[in-house]
Amino acid sequence: MVVYLVGAGPGDPDLITVKAIKALKKADVVIYDRLANEEILNHAEGAELIYVGKKAGEHYKKQEEINQILIDQGQKHENVVRLKGGDPFVFGRGGEEMLALLEQGIIVEFIPGVTSAIGVPTSAGLPVTHRGVATSLTVVTGHEDPTKPNKQVKWDFKADTIIILMGIGLLKENIGEIMKHKAPETPVCVIENGTMSDQRIITGTLENITEKHINTPALVIVGNVVDVFKEALIKKSEHKKD
Ligand code: SAH
Repeated sequence: MVVYLVGAGPGDPDLITVKAIKALKKADVVIYDRLANEEILNHAEGAELIYVGKKAGEHYKKQEEINQILIDQGQKHENVVRLKGGDPFVFGRGGEEMLALLEQGIIVEFIPGVTSAIGVPTSAGLPVTHRGVATSLTVVTGHEDPTKPNKQVKWDFKADTIIILMGIGLLKENIGEIMKHKAPETPVCVIENGTMSDQRIITGTLENITEKHINTPALVIVGNVVDVFKEALIKKSEHKKD
C-alpha cells in the first residue's frame, strides 16, 4: 500500500543508492521504463516486473495509463517500486505520478537518485561549477512536450553553465536558441552514454557542435567549465606519460 518513487541513477548500476536497493529487495512489483542498465532489476529478487517504456514499433504508454497502472498496483500490493532513471523528479514526470497516487489516498515515499544532469559530467571529470569560472548552473529540457500550448523554456539563461537534457533530437534548434544570447565560440561538451563503459565525450563550440554525430542518451553542457575540464584532462594524460 506504499508506492516508492525511486531514482535508479544515471546508468552505471553501482550508482544506485543503498536505500533504493533496500526498496527493490522488498518490492512485490517494480514498474520501470527504459533503464540504461537493467542489471539494477536483479535487486528485485521475487518481484513482478512491469515495463511501461517504449517497445519497438509501439508508442510510449500515455502518462495517464502509467498513472493508472501505478494506482492499480498500489491498491493491490504492500510494496510497489516505481523505478525511474536518474532522479525521479528531474524531467521524469515523477511529480505527476506522485499527485495521481496521492489523489487516490495511496501513500507515496521518495528515494532520490543521482541525476544524470550532475552525475554524468562528474563521472567524466567535468565540474559543473568551478571557482572563478562558473558560480551558477541551469538544467533545461531540450524537448518540451510538443502538445503544450505555450513553450515555457526561455533560452536567455543567466547561469554560467547550461546543461541540456533530452537535447539531441532538436540539437540544432536548441543550440541556435542559445547562440542568440551567447558567443559562438562558447565551449560545448556532449557526453554520450555517461557513466557507462561505452561513454563518449565530444567537445566543440556552439558554432560547430551540431556538425558532430551524436548518439543518445546524451547530455549537452555549455559554458567555460568545458575548457577547465579539457585542460585538466590534458594534464592528466601528461601525468600518465611521466
Ligand atoms: N530523471 C532523469 C532524466 C530523464 S530525461 C535524470 O535525473 O537523470 C532523459 C535525459 O537524461 C536523456 O535524454 C539524456 O539527456 C539524459 N541522460 C540520462 N541518462 C544519461 C546518460 N547515461 N548519459 C547521458 N545522458 C543521459
